[in-house]
Amino acid sequence: MKVIEHLRQAKDTLVSFEVLPPLKGKGINALWEHLDPLMEFKPSFINVTYHRSESMFKRRIDGVFEKVEVRKRPGTVGICAAIMNRYKVDAVPHLICGGFTRQETEDALIDLAFLGIDNVLVLRGDAARNEGSFEPEPGGNKFATELMQQVINMNNGLYLEEDLKGAVKTNFCIGVAGYPEKHFEAPNLASDIQHLKKKVDGGAEYVVTQMFFDNQKYFQYVQACKEAGINIPIIPGLKPITSKKQLTVIPRTFHVDIPVELYSAIMACKTDAEVEQVGTEWLQQQSKELKAAGVPVLHYYTLGKPHVIANVVRNVF
Ligand code: FAD
Repeated sequence: MKVIEHLRQAKDTLVSFEVLPPLKGKGINALWEHLDPLMEFKPSFINVTYHRSESMFKRRIDGVFEKVEVRKRPGTVGICAAIMNRYKVDAVPHLICGGFTRQETEDALIDLAFLGIDNVLVLRGDAARNEGSFEPEPGGNKFATELMQQVINMNNGLYLEEDLKGAVKTNFCIGVAGYPEKHFEAPNLASDIQHLKKKVDGGAEYVVTQMFFDNQKYFQYVQACKEAGINIPIIPGLKPITSKKQLTVIPRTFHVDIPVELYSAIMACKTDAEVEQVGTEWLQQQSKELKAAGVPVLHYYTLGKPHVIANVVRNVF
């Protein structure tokens, strides 16, 4: 079922989760160990992130370094199919522009359609590690809007081979990303919201936000989006802080602020267990307030901490 249908049928706030594919060599059981304890909360859908390959230098036997492409977390499409098969829950693969030609994107979408996966979260992706700024593949999509247009074309039966006769129309529900604290490349929040509006006008059916730790930023963002004419559901993305290291890693990686109160409480902790307790309680309070405000879904980035998410969801629903 499409995410948008889940949202339309919902009588209360729903729950959804986001997982990463296991590291190469780990096997699918690593994912089941992560997800099994979360299934009691009956998530409406589970997102699976996509990770592009990275260029690395590896030393050959003759001592010379050679540049190789390494994909650490392959398997997004297969994992989506496996999740749907094991749990009978809708899976939402993340689809990115980076590293894909349009032809490869089309092939991936054909695979997804064959597997009965009718949801995609359409994203641009970040710059590769060796690039200063995002560069599309030659013949690839440059912005999420372009990738989205390709999905919409296929939903209308328009494939890259224009002379393909009687092509089957795909039926994807399209979600896109939004940034309550602004995308880091955008000159200001207003222009970022204008780009989000283009995604919405182009056919996006819902938005999932970047994580945030201050609910006011989400509420203000939703209001600003409304004022810009964006009237589709905006799903809050939520993540717990469970280590002191994350106080610097999260802002650097995701370009979001840690509120002073949360920062001070974590800095006062003496053990990792105390940090996890503070992070869990903060996420619980955030979740309760968002649920009371009637948000459509609480979407949890579970990233290796399923027991923390389980504790939060148990206390919120
Ligand atoms: P876009 O919407 O294309 O926007 C990128 C930037 O360009 C923004 O600053 C925007 O304001 C600007 N912009 C947009 N259109 C135009 C235009 N026409 N002209 C000029 N500027 C424009 N990354 C992954 O690699 N894999 C994942 O699985 C993944 N999952 C994510 C899930 C969520 C919920 C979120 C919020 C992010 C996720 N990301 C993921 C990260 C995402 O790929 C990066 O944040 C990326 O830098 C931007 O992606 P986007 O889809 O928001 O890009």
